[in-house]
Amino acid sequence: MSQNNPTIHIIGTGVSGLAAAITLKNTGYNAQLIEQSSSVGGRVKTTVQDHMKLDHGFQVLLNQYPAAQEFLDLDALKLRSFSPASIVFIDGKKHVIGDAQRDFSYAWSTVVAGVGNLGDKWKVFTLSRKLKQKSLTDIFASPEKTTLSYLQDYGFSDKMIQSFFKPFYTGIFLETELQTSSRMFEFVFKMFSLGNATIPAAGIQAIPQQMAAHLKGQILFNTTVKEVVGDSIHLSNGETLKSDFTIIATPADSLVPNLKDTEKEWHSVQTLYFDTDEHGFDKPTIGLIAGQNCLSNNFHFLNDIFENHPKVISVSVVAKHKLSNDQLEERVRKELSEQANLSAGDLIKIIDIKKALPTFESIQYAMTPTETQLTQNIFLAGDQLSNASLNAAMLNGKAAALAVIAKIEGNQLV
Ligand SMILES: Cc1cc2nc3c(=O)[nH]c(=O)nc-3n(C[C@H](O)[C@H](O)[C@H](O)COP(=O)(O)OP(=O)(O)OC[C@H]3O[C@@H](n4cnc5c(N)ncnc54)[C@H](O)[C@@H]3O)c2cc1C
Repeated sequence: MSQNNPTIHIIGTGVSGLAAAITLKNTGYNAQLIEQSSSVGGRVKTTVQDHMKLDHGFQVLLNQYPAAQEFLDLDALKLRSFSPASIVFIDGKKHVIGDAQRDFSYAWSTVVAGVGNLGDKWKVFTLSRKLKQKSLTDIFASPEKTTLSYLQDYGFSDKMIQSFFKPFYTGIFLETELQTSSRMFEFVFKMFSLGNATIPAAGIQAIPQQMAAHLKGQILFNTTVKEVVGDSIHLSNGETLKSDFTIIATPADSLVPNLKDTEKEWHSVQTLYFDTDEHGFDKPTIGLIAGQNCLSNNFHFLNDIFENHPKVISVSVVAKHKLSNDQLEERVRKELSEQANLSAGDLIKIIDIKKALPTFESIQYAMTPTETQLTQNIFLAGDQLSNASLNAAMLNGKAAALAVIAKIEGNQLV
């Protein structure tokens, strides 16, 4: 290895690999990124079709994520914010529940909403106040239980849990039983209380595209890594690259021989896009469908969030089912009509994401640099190491890069 010019490779150009590359670049090291697909972003993807911005899965950037503040130019992304409220549909009835501390116009509708009792609404307020003050360190050091137990122990009624927390957090955790760690619940609730759920004006993929703009000429697209052994990266095309340091910014179980059989389970989601004549809600708002046995979980109007956008409804289906795409389309259309009195027109696209979010036994905030080191040459990054969020993915990329920099410069790892 040349001390001044070590070869560094990063496998994967999701936001984790990109954050690793930016961290290295800021310290004067140009890594070579290797990406199997033809574009950056990994799971953060947008298809633009007939002037419609179709994100691959409903995905938001919480603008208070510490990593978003660090790695992104938020102004340049022209973020569109959702209102701090949800519209809950239960068996054809509409209930508006919002954060009156942020927007007082939600005070009355929240008090009268038939999603839980007055005590529940007061508890939302006290929980928000408590979590705004609880530090991230304390959140991620707290004992873990399921989100469901956490909400029950906090004293929320079953009605409040079933009609609000369940659909809202199913749309975020991509599992229907609120089994995700209470640490993740506290973290996400805190981020929602402090800031906004946003989408860039050009769609969610604008995030990795903005990051990649710092890395011109450093990315090798359409190149799949088959295996990483020591200082050798074996590509599927038969070539081998020599690498002093390799950051694997994607699950490494299929790439590193001694990690075989450590593959995680993943949560999945389907997103259905329909055209519509509906004009949308008054403000960009997330709609929740809380009727019993509904497959449709949450929806929003793209024309609410994006300026001058064709009228399109995006619906997320998280629950497992055995329907064909045709049957699912009809079922969702019927549920939108019966539950929310909305008429969905032609189906534009179904996006089926089998590996959307990794699952965890226990979650952490982010890796320390030391924890990212697998061998002398190999370092790990990606959200699957600590928690399923853009924030963790970026911070883990940064941690792996800092570990590599410490090795090169002979510093102690922390
Ligand atoms: C539907 C959905 C909704 C989500 N909602 C939110 C949300 O609202 N808020 C939030 O914070 N997070 C959300 N997330 C999670 C967030 O998208 C992820 O945490 C983040 O994108 C993970 O980034 P990553 O770089 O770790 O992994 P990935 O994005 O998976 O990137 C890995 C990259 O490695 C490449 N790669 C893999 N194997 C190889 C190989 N052998 N050779 C070469 N390249 C390879 C892949 O092509 C990919 O580009 C959501 C995710 C999905 C899918």
